[in-house]
Amino acid sequence: MRRIKILSCLILMALFNCPISWATVSRVVLISFDGLRPDVISTFKEKLPHFYQLIKEGATTLNARTDADFTVTIPNHTCMLTGRGVVGAAGHNVILNKDTSQSIHELKGAYVKSVFDVVRDQKLSSAMYASKTKFRIFADSFPIDDVHLTDHNDAQTMESLRDLFKGDRLPAFLFIHFSGADNAGHKDGWNVDGQSSYMRAVFLLDDYLGQIMTAVRNLNEQGKATVLIVTSDHGGTQRHHAAFQNRKNYTIPFLVWGAQVARGKDLYELNKTGRANPGRAWIPYSEPVQPIRNGEAANLALRLLGLSCVPQSTVGCSPTLIVEDQSQGQK
Ligand SMILES: [Zn+2]
Repeated sequence: MRRIKILSCLILMALFNCPISWATVSRVVLISFDGLRPDVISTFKEKLPHFYQLIKEGATTLNARTDADFTVTIPNHTCMLTGRGVVGAAGHNVILNKDTSQSIHELKGAYVKSVFDVVRDQKLSSAMYASKTKFRIFADSFPIDDVHLTDHNDAQTMESLRDLFKGDRLPAFLFIHFSGADNAGHKDGWNVDGQSSYMRAVFLLDDYLGQIMTAVRNLNEQGKATVLIVTSDHGGTQRHHAAFQNRKNYTIPFLVWGAQVARGKDLYELNKTGRANPGRAWIPYSEPVQPIRNGEAANLALRLLGLSCVPQSTVGCSPTLIVEDQSQGQK
């Protein structure tokens, strides 16, 4: 199926200057840094060399958006994995942010497809390595081949990832979640100050990011084209992040790096017709041209893998986000 799709696009490209002519990759790694405010990256360039490297070498924005109506963890990660907003008939309707024995489909009252379903349908592999046990809702709801959950323990999550990288068993779609920034923000506040526990947590996460970038670089050097997507579920201010119309809560990074990704490009510049830079504003879904949201992750990952959008998804499908250098991707 995947081969047929790629072949048809190559034929279309030759005949009609097909606009979706990008080459596909074999692996996508999505990292969500829970509670990561994007202004930390611009403020602490020297102390965050790997985040900053993503900006220098990738297609990125520090002005992406969460879901319009929720700035909490489980609802926003469900957006990232399903390509849907939270509320309304088209939304995934997961508003709980705690451990639950109910699946996402039970909460919605209908099956909600995800990036994992599309990957499984194409007989490709997937994994989730996450640092909150409440993420078991995703393991209980979606077909994920390999699941590792820790209880707010990023060091242990990273240890498991190192084993995965060593074994050269990286699946087609790998979802990674680190909780360290969020843990520190809730405990001592989202203080963007070099001495704060929040920033100390982010400095450690930059080291973990560097280790994952090394693994991605190694794969690319071996000819296994791999792309890294980095985003967050929400920011934070003082010790909270639930106020969804607060700019410090709804502004998040969206960083893409790796095989075929444009180097040093702003994502809004690459997507002038499909997305609109929201400036400082809160943007509802009723706005005709949307900002880049964390909910783009599912459909961007699928397009990069040469697969179709998540069925019934509403975020980031038509069109999917362009992350490639357009002068090279289209002839
Ligand atoms: Zn969170």
